[in-house]
Amino acid sequence: MHINPILSKKILAWYDNNKRKLPWRVGKKSPKKLYYRLLSEFMLQQTQVKTVIPYFNNFTKKFKTLKSLSISSEREVLKTWEGLGYYRRARNLLACSKKLVRDHGSRLPYSLEKIKKLPGIGDYTGNALLGLVYNMPTIAVDGNVKRVFSRILNKEENKINFENLIDKNKKNFFKTNRNADFVEALMEFGALVCKPKDPNCLTCCLKKTCKYFKSKNKIRSSKRKMIRKNYNVFCYINKKKQIALTKENKIGFLKNFYLPTIIEDANSFNNRNWKFLKNYQNPISNLKLNINLYYKFAKRIPQSHNWYSLEKNKEFIPSFTKKIFKQISTLFK
Ligand code: SF4
Repeated sequence: MHINPILSKKILAWYDNNKRKLPWRVGKKSPKKLYYRLLSEFMLQQTQVKTVIPYFNNFTKKFKTLKSLSISSEREVLKTWEGLGYYRRARNLLACSKKLVRDHGSRLPYSLEKIKKLPGIGDYTGNALLGLVYNMPTIAVDGNVKRVFSRILNKEENKINFENLIDKNKKNFFKTNRNADFVEALMEFGALVCKPKDPNCLTCCLKKTCKYFKSKNKIRSSKRKMIRKNYNVFCYINKKKQIALTKENKIGFLKNFYLPTIIEDANSFNNRNWKFLKNYQNPISNLKLNINLYYKFAKRIPQSHNWYSLEKNKEFIPSFTKKIFKQISTLFK
């Protein structure tokens, strides 16, 4: 699939005049570059730029360098991450910083293969970091980039082999040697101009070559897939206003975090003697969680569980569990 060679020049010119001032966009030679880029790439997974900015500023105030992050405790890191969600990212970031400092002299490895051995880094983040940190000719294909190419070609995303497309047009994309800028410019252009809804076609610098703009038969934008899940949450509670939590759970995005017992298929659980408290929805990014909340006053709890106060805890409790606390607290009012 051929992309008009003018694209990189036009997008870079647009970027130079319109890029947002973001705290992780530091100078090419800044010693903070790797740390800031790494942190922002982790924070931006599943999360919008405007949500990330205050968390990024707060995090870098507390952990000033990659090294200081690498010697911090998991509890401190999770506390500072608190509210941003998807806490596995914070754990991976901490593990990644330790590995970079210990095994790579606080530098990013030069090959995608080696970068992907770092915790929490796959193809997307690996390619983004190689481009942004080392100016290598790589493109991180996120939703924004897919949408831009798919519209320029007026071809549905699922009919495009993006790896092939980038490979075939590599020479043109990277001829200016501003690879790091091009990676960012593409993502920024997708976020601000070629937006999911109502793209700014009339003022767009690419409209003369864009097939979507010219076509009478425009493709439909692909919608973000929502994943629905049913969780039955069983809370042991006691009269001291405590709730029993365990880290032994199989809930992917909250694996090894403090949760009550959660069962997807309630039929596989003996729910005799449990009282139904409430049904509520808990949306988290592209997850739509339908929660059925049950409780039982108990003196004895399973060995894997420990008691935690509904009001004050030293441990890090994810917001998913805090919402459960809020519901359970209504029983003591
Ligand atoms: S003309 Fe419209 S659809 Fe085409 S690249 Fe520009 S904003 Fe996107």
